Amino acid sequence: MDAEVVIIGGGPVGSTFAAQTASLTTVVVEEHEQIGAPVQCTGLVHPRVVEMAQAQSSVLNNISGFRLTFPGGRTMEVRSNETKAVVIDRGKFDRHCCERAELEGADILTGREFVGFQREGRKMMLTLNGPDGLETMTTDLLVGADGYKSRVGEQAGLGTAKEHIRGVQVELDMRMEEQSLVEILVGKNVAPGFFAWILPCGDVTRVGLGVSQDGEAPVHYLNALLKKRGLDKVGRKNIISGIIPIGPPRKTYADNVLIIGDAAAQAKPVSGGGIYTGMRAAKWAALTAVDAVEEGDLSAKRLSEYDDRWRSDIGRELERGLMIRKVFTNLTDKKLDDVGRMLDREDAKEVLATGDIDYPSKLASPLLKAVPSLIKFSPQLIGSLIRKEQRVI
Ligand SMILES: Cc1cc2nc3c(=O)[nH]c(=O)nc-3n(C[C@H](O)[C@H](O)[C@H](O)COP(=O)(O)OP(=O)(O)OC[C@H]3O[C@@H](n4cnc5c(N)ncnc54)[C@H](O)[C@@H]3O)c2cc1C
Repeated sequence: MDAEVVIIGGGPVGSTFAAQTASLTTVVVEEHEQIGAPVQCTGLVHPRVVEMAQAQSSVLNNISGFRLTFPGGRTMEVRSNETKAVVIDRGKFDRHCCERAELEGADILTGREFVGFQREGRKMMLTLNGPDGLETMTTDLLVGADGYKSRVGEQAGLGTAKEHIRGVQVELDMRMEEQSLVEILVGKNVAPGFFAWILPCGDVTRVGLGVSQDGEAPVHYLNALLKKRGLDKVGRKNIISGIIPIGPPRKTYADNVLIIGDAAAQAKPVSGGGIYTGMRAAKWAALTAVDAVEEGDLSAKRLSEYDDRWRSDIGRELERGLMIRKVFTNLTDKKLDDVGRMLDREDAKEVLATGDIDYPSKLASPLLKAVPSLIKFSPQLIGSLIRKEQRVI
């Protein structure tokens, strides 16, 4: 079999890419038998993501605010009049994205694991492990949308994420009274290096957390949180775990190769969400791919256009997100409690209510204006964050 473009990975990012290369022969290769299973995601996205995918039927709930719980127990609520995020059925969302790619003309090969590639002149020879054993296929362009462990990226020598957050989540058979607020909990004993969440989704509730690379397993913290909240005896629908790759590698292209989504560690460093940023990068990758294939130039130099395009679009926000993350991870629990006290005032909450889950760094300047003393927590980092933001404006 031969295709102009082969995408490894039938997640939302691979499918989004495939839907936009319809003028080329496009094949998506997915190791699982079914698209959208297993799910390793909370499914909290900005409504724009659902619009981008035209996947309204996957929405389970609307979220218009958050409750922040600080290590010492102080809580703070921020509400908005608009829907700030939606909770999606991630399996349904992925299947929808894949069906769109298929409708546009892409072929979907499930139950086939990508094993490796070899260069053969101007072509790439791929080895897949399928239901009848090893198979080969050839392509001009190989696209790695194969998640954080990207074999495509590794074999093309593209490096990996700077950091891996370990995540775990349980879906509880329980309906929260308050359906429009997500609770976010921070602190070294709750979720060291990241945060925990309690997310209402109608008749079920998703409770999960992420932790940085070192230390105890995430499930240790999850059990502690469930116990503390008296939720340890509630029936569990399912439990998932997964990795969030943070901090993209230096290069996301090579001769005949592009990597997108989690394979390129394009998840947002502050929230860990990777669907929006991955889908945006997929758009830039597809635009570059169509032109490069039509020109017959799949050299690394030609494909570097994709790298330039996604970095000047979402790359700056990811960089600023990494800086915010650094400020956050340097805060002790005591300092987090101090931040909680300082933010608990109406003008700061009004600023927080304007926040956008996909662009958290846009809050930095207005928040500092409302609470200038926040700068004391990291004068250098916060200063350069603001300067970067102002350069963009
Ligand atoms: C606990 C947790 C909660 C999260 N919550 C959110 C959230 O609320 N909002 C949000 O935006 N993001 C969230 N994320 C991140 C989000 O899930 C990812 O950023 C997103 O799935 C990236 O999409 P992708 O298509 O790049 O990769 P994936 O969704 O990982 O898809 C990659 C696909 O490639 C396939 N594959 C891998 N290797 C091979 C191979 N060798 N051969 C064939 N196929 C292969 C995999 O089976 C998979 O189907 C969360 C992540 C975790 C771990």
